[in-house]
Amino acid sequence: MAPEKFQWKHLYDEVVTSGLCTGCAGCVIACPHDVLDYDDSSGRYKPFQTEDFGGASDCSHGDKGCTSCTRACPRFRDWETDIDQFLFGREREPEEVSGMYKDIVLARASDKIIHEVGQDGGLVSAILLYCLDKGIIDAALVSYLEGDGSTWKARPGVARTREDIIASAGSRYTYSANTLAYNDAVESGAEKIALVGMSCQSSVPPIMKQRKAGKVARRLSLNIGLLCSKTFDDAIFEELFEAKYGLKREDMRKMNIKGVFQIWMKNGDYHEVPLKECHEWTREGCKQCPDFAAEHADISTGGIGAFNDWTLTIIRTDIGREIMDGLLAAGLIEVRPGDDDPGAIELMHKLAKKSRKRWPETAVAAPRLLVK
Ligand SMILES: Cc1cc2nc3c(=O)[nH]c(=O)nc-3n(C[C@H](O)[C@H](O)[C@H](O)COP(=O)(O)OP(=O)(O)OC[C@H]3O[C@@H](n4cnc5c(N)ncnc54)[C@H](O)[C@@H]3O)c2cc1C
Ligand code: SF4
Ligand code: SF4
Repeated sequence: MAPEKFQWKHLYDEVVTSGLCTGCAGCVIACPHDVLDYDDSSGRYKPFQTEDFGGASDCSHGDKGCTSCTRACPRFRDWETDIDQFLFGREREPEEVSGMYKDIVLARASDKIIHEVGQDGGLVSAILLYCLDKGIIDAALVSYLEGDGSTWKARPGVARTREDIIASAGSRYTYSANTLAYNDAVESGAEKIALVGMSCQSSVPPIMKQRKAGKVARRLSLNIGLLCSKTFDDAIFEELFEAKYGLKREDMRKMNIKGVFQIWMKNGDYHEVPLKECHEWTREGCKQCPDFAAEHADISTGGIGAFNDWTLTIIRTDIGREIMDGLLAAGLIEVRPGDDDPGAIELMHKLAKKSRKRWPETAVAAPRLLVK
């Protein structure tokens, strides 16, 4: 008997409508027939099938044997084990709750402007600049604020220059499926593309490569992950920040999450909103996500720890190591050992365990087994 082919119908039933779908858009960019689109209205962030063919779970190409969308989905079946094997050649040990890595360091950009615009140490922006300069990449898929920034709506986009990188630096806490900028990058002629994305998005390139999902993966040559325990619905701005605290989105200058939701206003005021109050606005796609530490990125980056203006940096792969060595040798970053802040590493493992507990009993066992 021929092996069963997994197509859109399986993805729709097992991931899109089961609560596992993160909205990473891997399936959308992998679809070779262009029949998947993406709905980011009203906090949905979900793929949908656009053909006039059957119902929402039907795809005429799937019925004819196309399997690209399930191959590109980093939540379909045994995605975690498949990627671990592909990237690291083995299964995880139970203590590897934050994934496998070569080293953990604290890093920050030497360039004052990059450091200043960066969310933590500006490391991500420094990496992109270096890789563009050296021809390691031609473009990066990042996130911008729409318009003049006053709506705080995060939008995927392409960065190809220093100006682009500066404009896209910093963190927004609503979802931005940066993968969706892939087609624009290719149309602009890019062949070597970096993806910057939340943990869920950073599993897209390796699962595509492992499951041979087609041409897209070949161009995704660098994978930078952002540590993440959740993103919020856009409604949090009006329904919490403005309704309870009188803080209007257009008056905000910067935000961060460090145990509390920190908000800096354009007039110089600073506010803290307890995270407990924000939980109600957690985005649907985050509620069952088990990956805090961007465990399948080449380099994962976060802001936890004692030192505010350094990026906690987890170097996972050979290319991640080479790039960090290159930046250091060129004097573009300062680096300190992770041991300077053991509390940050401990907290990362603790938060990774916490996220793993969200993975449902009804799905494959691997992500949950690590916390038993
Ligand atoms: C939604 C969100 C939640 C996070 N949660 C945590 C956390 O719980 N704990 C933790 O330690 N770190 C978390 N981080 C990571 C942290 O905020 C920094 O992004 C990371 O430390 C890198 O800092 P940097 O100064 O080196 O990056 P920068 O040089 O500032 O570059 C940041 C990059 O992130 C991209 N970006 C910004 N917002 C988004 C978005 N919404 N979606 C996709 N890409 C985006 C930018 O375009 C830019 O390329 C989170 C980040 C985001 C965006
Ligand atoms: S998790 Fe990502 S790839 Fe999987 S169905 Fe959702 S959007 Fe598509
Ligand atoms: S918690 Fe973060 S990594 Fe997980 S689905 Fe939500 S945005 Fe993606």
